[in-house]
Amino acid sequence: MRLEVLRKLPKADLHCHLDGSIRTATILDLAREQGYSLPVDTVEELRPYVRVPKSCRSLKEFLECFDIFYPLLKNAPALERITYELLRDAAAENIRYIEVRFAPILQKDDGFPIPEVIEAVLRGIERGEQDFNIKARVIICLFRGTTLEDSMETVRYSSKYIKEGVCGIDVAGDESAYPLKDFLKPIDYALEEGLFVTVHAGEAGGPENVKQAVEAGAHRIGHGVALIKDPKLTEMIAKKQIPLEICITSNVQTQAVREYSEHPFLDLIEKGVVVTLNTDDRGISGIDLTYEYAKAVELGMGPATMKKVVYDGFKSAFASDEIINELIEAERENIEGLFNE
Ligand SMILES: [Zn+2]
Repeated sequence: MRLEVLRKLPKADLHCHLDGSIRTATILDLAREQGYSLPVDTVEELRPYVRVPKSCRSLKEFLECFDIFYPLLKNAPALERITYELLRDAAAENIRYIEVRFAPILQKDDGFPIPEVIEAVLRGIERGEQDFNIKARVIICLFRGTTLEDSMETVRYSSKYIKEGVCGIDVAGDESAYPLKDFLKPIDYALEEGLFVTVHAGEAGGPENVKQAVEAGAHRIGHGVALIKDPKLTEMIAKKQIPLEICITSNVQTQAVREYSEHPFLDLIEKGVVVTLNTDDRGISGIDLTYEYAKAVELGMGPATMKKVVYDGFKSAFASDEIINELIEAERENIEGLFNE
């Protein structure tokens, strides 16, 4: 399929970090507005600091990109703006449903408490939905390395904003350094409150982390590429139809997978695992979802498989069956039409 057709294809993005999706030009604007000094003052000069080259093969290099602009995101107007811009960028490539995630614990500050962090993002979502052809929901990330109290508080606030658009929680951060057992209580709490749960697992860690996430009650797995190393577990995840949120380029850039050609997503699909394609950090990675679909095609994904992946993106949304059906029915004709071209 040509790039142009992949761009037109109605898509869902279920694994998308708000901070990692920031536009380079916006970082410059925010710095000017906030009187914050950056080492450079043009978009071209700033790009190498905040965007890894497509050839990046280093987790360290990847994570360093966040450092320079992070202090700029600890206020409401900045968060509202980058959320709105993300929806604009996503809608422009025909992403019709997006779940935007962020960790309020990293964004909050003295005088900028968690509820205000969440509300700022929700305002960006509301405006974006009004102005662009896209539906959006919010996933709140708990963060590995923070305290149990932090996580419980974050879940408590998340549950207060379900009606406003918070659909679930995630556990993000370094899975190789912080075990999931510290998050079982907050996950239970989230499930009781009716929130969906996803966990970053099997990205920097092994398949056992995927198993723990599923046992903890996760409805989806963030990345989960390590799953392929454990055939029995792969069979179990396939049987349970627990979707994986696959982000191909990010996996290669952070070295969760050594090379594009070694990415296991097609193997996993062949083994019956539900795979969705997502961006992860479109700003840092310098990609969009169209590019990720093109990569998947380049790696051997045929049209029938792609069609399934597209529908599985919508079907795996953290939403009621009714909303999922609505989303799919609204796009079915477009999707089918593009495959028949
Ligand atoms: Zn992620």
